[in-house]
Amino acid sequence: MLNRRQLLLASGAALALPAFGAAPKARVVIVGAGMAGVTLAKYLRLWDRGIEVTLVDRNASYTSNIMSSLVLTGQRTLQQLTYSYAALRQRGVKFVQGEVVAVDPAAPSITLASGQVLAADRVVLAAGIAFEPPPGYDDQRMPHAWQAGPQPTLLAQQLAAMPAGGTVALTIPPTPYRCPPGPYERACLLADWLRVNKPGSRLLVLDANPDVVTEKDNFLAAFNGIHAGVVEYHNNAGIQSVDPATMTLKTDLGPVTADVINLIPRQRCGRIVTDTGLATATGGRFAPVDVLSYASTVAPKVHVIGDSSATTQPKAGHIANQEAKVCADAIVRGVNGLAPDPAPVTNSACFSTITMTQASWLTAVFQYDAASRTMVSVANASGASSGWSTGHFQDMGTWFNALMADSLA
Ligand SMILES: Cc1cc2nc3c(=O)[nH]c(=O)nc-3n(C[C@H](O)[C@H](O)[C@H](O)COP(=O)(O)OP(=O)(O)OC[C@H]3O[C@@H](n4cnc5c(N)ncnc54)[C@H](O)[C@@H]3O)c2cc1C
Repeated sequence: MLNRRQLLLASGAALALPAFGAAPKARVVIVGAGMAGVTLAKYLRLWDRGIEVTLVDRNASYTSNIMSSLVLTGQRTLQQLTYSYAALRQRGVKFVQGEVVAVDPAAPSITLASGQVLAADRVVLAAGIAFEPPPGYDDQRMPHAWQAGPQPTLLAQQLAAMPAGGTVALTIPPTPYRCPPGPYERACLLADWLRVNKPGSRLLVLDANPDVVTEKDNFLAAFNGIHAGVVEYHNNAGIQSVDPATMTLKTDLGPVTADVINLIPRQRCGRIVTDTGLATATGGRFAPVDVLSYASTVAPKVHVIGDSSATTQPKAGHIANQEAKVCADAIVRGVNGLAPDPAPVTNSACFSTITMTQASWLTAVFQYDAASRTMVSVANASGASSGWSTGHFQDMGTWFNALMADSLA
């Protein structure tokens, strides 16, 4: 971030309002008004009001993925998780609703489905993820519920309609995927809900990974302890193909049939990032970036932040917020003739539901390592709670409200 002196030097009149009718110092167009995009828009306007910021999304409002597993148990509604862009507009962000169908990374500019072209000095892609489902997949029969909107509601309805004593399967894709603890916390939450609402039911957790990806101690203690009668955990259980007609999964461990299937597919960056030719890392799935500025290493006038970028940090909303701030800082510095901060630090906190009323937590701090040019986890500043509690569950609500306010208000 800019220190006090640099801020004063950089700003000159930058932090003051530009003269009425003055041309902007720079135009930044952001594709995607999710966790990363909204934070970037807000902080660009906060840190330099001379920059014109245009934020584009296909949706008129944002529905949070964070907390959306609680829609499955009826503890949150989608309306409660929906946020308007009104506060960003008040900050002077221009919001455009539309589907971005093309990006010219050299110009740079973007083209909307309407044909409108928006030219910029910098384009930032904050387009989240796309799914790579297995052959035969039907998201109505086997909802992923990994993108807030109609999917969590559909899965909640299927769970509610299932008879007691039924079988639910939840699949976990190979890493990297959005929200590493997310599928395990959902498994714990559903196990608790099934025990109360559908007695005698089983939950098969089919993990494509060789082991629990994160927070292993807490999740295995919960699976083998309080959820022992409900959860059956299987590792190395990748999904080869599916048959929605018979509700069968062809897995690496053999066929599995269930009454309700929550199939979370393998993930890659948002499609517009792939179409722009920027997804050259992680087997062509995510976009490599310079983590000092989040500039694409393929097209330097285009930045990629949030889940679409390939970094050593987890794909999480809190990290998307942090990446956006580092990117905003680098753009503001660039516009004002300064180099990016050479030593950025980011952090992430994450709470995991272990039951419908108790949670655990996980936290990580990352620091730039000049030798590897990556963000490296700071060992003595990262860790997880030992066990879970109702107090942590309450803290989860406080943390969530603070994150959403910091990003969108
Ligand atoms: C069940 C679940 C629980 C989670 N829990 C947590 C948690 O506890 N903590 C945490 O930190 N993270 C959590 N996450 C992860 C978090 O939601 C994501 O990491 C975060 O949303 C990533 O932000 P993003 O801006 O990259 O993508 P998104 O928030 O998905 O935003 C992308 C935006 O881009 C728009 N878009 C994409 N392409 C186009 C286009 N071509 N034209 C127009 N608009 C476009 C989309 O409409 C969307 O609004 C959870 C995720 C899930 C699914």
